[in-house]
Amino acid sequence: MFRDRFAFLLLLLALLPAGAILAQAEPDPPLVDPFREWRDVEKNSLTKSRFAYVDGDQACLWPETGQRMLIPVARLSEEDREWIADHPLRILRGKVVFVADGDTIGVLDADNQQRRVRLEGIDAPESNQAFGNKSKRILSDACHGKEVLVVYTSEDQYGRILGQIYVDDRWLNHDQIESGMAWHYRHFSGDAHLAELQKQSQKAQKGIWSDPNPQQPWRFRLDERRRREAEEEKAKAAEMTAPTGFWLNSSSGVRHNAQCDHYGKTSRGRYCTAEEGKPCGICGG
Ligand SMILES: [Zn+2]
Repeated sequence: MFRDRFAFLLLLLALLPAGAILAQAEPDPPLVDPFREWRDVEKNSLTKSRFAYVDGDQACLWPETGQRMLIPVARLSEEDREWIADHPLRILRGKVVFVADGDTIGVLDADNQQRRVRLEGIDAPESNQAFGNKSKRILSDACHGKEVLVVYTSEDQYGRILGQIYVDDRWLNHDQIESGMAWHYRHFSGDAHLAELQKQSQKAQKGIWSDPNPQQPWRFRLDERRRREAEEEKAKAAEMTAPTGFWLNSSSGVRHNAQCDHYGKTSRGRYCTAEEGKPCGICGG
């Protein structure tokens, strides 16, 4: 009985689209309020800020938007000073030399090296999506040629900096979502503030939300990739019409040689090169 159920579950899993399995394997991070309350030595509240950047003997606190505050570190409560020590931040200051799209910019660092900076927690429409160009233009208007401050803790898998970007008192990650120029990148960000901000722009039908059913950029990229792969497979199939001595089962990706019973016989397949696919376990491909 158990074995049957187990087999049934396996069958269900096999029928689920790959995306659903992926989403199950990596759930979205829980939503967390990114702001904490900062207090002075007498425990009076100063402001709410997601972090503090320490420059010399001053701590810089950023409220959600608007004026940032400079507080002497010595005036902060002991707990806050400990928090700063436990949460080291990296800072990049420099001029924005390019804007790639609505969520990625290039910043020239102190050594005149161009650093690619991805705005953390947001995902802007691709250039060939609705609002892709507008999103880029709005980010460009806000920062191109200007000095920015990038606060970050890590780089992403492509070596890009993933950070919060500030121009004077503007917080660009926030602004792009507020103006409906980007999505909250929910799968990678548990920032409850950005999530709430997106809800508000959606309600106000700003930017991308003027379309009642806009396509998520990550969904768009996945569709594009699948379409490209299907086209490549089609082009390859058109190229491989004459027998080559190798046969690719295009459903399983297994390659058979001319001696195999499956050669030219699988319901979906085409002739292929000796390098394509995985070799068959029986004929050796
Ligand atoms: Zn075979």
